[in-house]
Amino acid sequence: MSSLVPPFLRQLAGDPLGLGRAAQSRRSEGLAPRTQTADKVVQSVCPYCAVGCGQKVYAKDGKVIQIEGDPDSPISRGRLCPKGAASEKLVNQPGRVTEVLYRRPCGTDWERISLEQATDMIADRLIRTRAETWEERTEDGQPLKRTLGMHILGGATLDSEENYLIKKFFCAAGALSIENQARI
Ligand code: SF4
Repeated sequence: MSSLVPPFLRQLAGDPLGLGRAAQSRRSEGLAPRTQTADKVVQSVCPYCAVGCGQKVYAKDGKVIQIEGDPDSPISRGRLCPKGAASEKLVNQPGRVTEVLYRRPCGTDWERISLEQATDMIADRLIRTRAETWEERTEDGQPLKRTLGMHILGGATLDSEENYLIKKFFCAAGALSIENQARI
């Protein structure tokens, strides 16, 4: 029914609660949801906190175009908090840093370095720190096999699989201080 017909009459014509076509304006009649143009939808989990709300990620031409709550999730039943609802911006916001930035000791500026170089630098430090701080035994000869020289603090954008691997890796390396701020 045309949007020129008064809303009350439009309600009487098959939309008694006024939540559908009766509530449409001339402008909203011509609008379509962003998700309509997606060529792929995948189920995912919000990366931000330990609640683990379900998300639907809409993609088009290989790019994320929208992220919404997943009604099929038994955890959140379609809901997302404001942070989770804005997670599309985690992917698409134009200020997102996509290169490794390094500020060397006493440096005043950030330098762009390659991911390979950054990975090597981290690996060198990790191996050296572990070797320098390794504790094989207690003073009375009991086995310790640990290092107190390195600590891991995970962030909320790590997913469950990444956290699983980080925990495994650093336990195997002998670290004791392994923590993540995304917990309830
Ligand atoms: S940040 Fe919000 S949407 Fe994401 S898992 Fe936590 S409560 Fe759910």
